[in-house]
Amino acid sequence: MGNWDYEIFWKESLNQLKAELSEQEFAMWFNMAYETSGELSLVVSVPSAFYRDQVKQRYQERIEHTLFELSGQHIQVEFEIKQRKHPDHKEIVSSHVSPASIDRPTQSSSHKKTEGTVQQIKDREDHGQLRRDYTFENFVIGENNSFAANAAIAIAKNPGTAYNPCLIYGGVGLGKTHLMQAIGNLAWVEKGCKIIYITAENFTNEFVEAIKNSTTQKFKNKYRNADMLLIDDIHFLQKKNETQEELFHTFNALYDANKQIIFTCDRPVSELKNLSERLRSRFERGLNVDLQPPSYETRCAILSKKVEARKVHIPADVINLVAKNISSNVRDLEASLTKLIAYAELTKKPVTLETAQQQLRDTFGSPKQNNVTIETIQKVVAEYFSLSYTDLKGKKRTKAVSFPRQIAMYIAREITEYSTTELGMEFGGRDHTTVMHGCQKIEERLKMEPSLETTILKLEKLIKDYNS
Ligand code: ADP
Ligand code: MG
Repeated sequence: MGNWDYEIFWKESLNQLKAELSEQEFAMWFNMAYETSGELSLVVSVPSAFYRDQVKQRYQERIEHTLFELSGQHIQVEFEIKQRKHPDHKEIVSSHVSPASIDRPTQSSSHKKTEGTVQQIKDREDHGQLRRDYTFENFVIGENNSFAANAAIAIAKNPGTAYNPCLIYGGVGLGKTHLMQAIGNLAWVEKGCKIIYITAENFTNEFVEAIKNSTTQKFKNKYRNADMLLIDDIHFLQKKNETQEELFHTFNALYDANKQIIFTCDRPVSELKNLSERLRSRFERGLNVDLQPPSYETRCAILSKKVEARKVHIPADVINLVAKNISSNVRDLEASLTKLIAYAELTKKPVTLETAQQQLRDTFGSPKQNNVTIETIQKVVAEYFSLSYTDLKGKKRTKAVSFPRQIAMYIAREITEYSTTELGMEFGGRDHTTVMHGCQKIEERLKMEPSLETTILKLEKLIKDYNS
């Protein structure tokens, strides 16, 4: 007797939810189409597995609750994936990035080699504006970026449908450009899209040039003919009123034609200043995803991947050391690795833990990489020399106490930004000259006793590990 039809309840619950959610949220996530009903269940289609997982997690309970209130029956919602074809593109079936690796953001999935895609990129002409190595294969997915990365993969597979526009934001060196270009590279290879990548700065310059040369029509045509427009670093547009205006119109033309638009920004749109309200609302429409700094484990995975790509040998303990000490962003991680590789090539010696420590000492010590407090330094040094923390800070001047105290002062000078005056205060209200004197003593001893250097490095490592 299967004569169930819940479509009317479905439609009504959508109306209710539409009234309850923000316009943006509704437009973003309720891209679902009613398919069919069964006994106490109804099936709706969604554009991708990623989308399904997000909607299930965010709204399934709420939708089912609304359905219950309307129908008095416990109707379950099931999701079916149905790729809605982009009007202009032929569907190209791809076996390269398996849906499984899109659904489940694990680190190992990102390490999977997808030879086919790499090969195809090689076979195809260079895009010209996209870096070849900015691919999903080369992008390590961790907890800091999995939402953004999976949304990016979904976009590359179905441009112009579910997540349009998309804005990727986050601090410097966290992979915004890489991820944006990875979308471009994949869509370029698999979909044959006309892709334009440009920084907001160059977009501005080109526009200014076009006005000067009376070629604005050509400029407009170029951008409005793209299937996918990638504009990097839109924070640059602040105060550029005429360019904002132009981008607004470009946006509308592309958006209305279901063309994919992607932006990156170094902060959330809400924090941009001097931006026209209507352009701001366009940036905020669609999907906004952020990139966070990577965790220690992800940093190790990224370094391992880069080492592999460069075909050099760097021992695991060195990778761990760098990952431990460089926490600011991926660009800084890469820079440290490059420095080690350059050193190894110049000296024709393998990279060891010791050389890595020496070479990267300044980088590790930079205040950007750690929020070490004086208290941590004092505690670690005191413990190392079997002293009490109070004694280390206190007034005693016996050799057993003053030498560790000088070491603590020296390390504090090396790895923090505190002045000698501030350090004096922290060391029992001493004068800044006492701190300078203490540091000098250690410097003199370092010249005579190489083993002291090892001790200090060991202590610095303990200090940096103290909080993790
Ligand atoms: P942003 O545009 O956010 O400033 P980039 O995209 O230029 O950052 O990334 C800086 C560097 O770090 C690039 O070389 C990029 O390849 C690398 N990178 C960033 N995130 C990752 C990641 N998750 N996996 C691998 N490399 C990454
Ligand atoms: Mg960038």
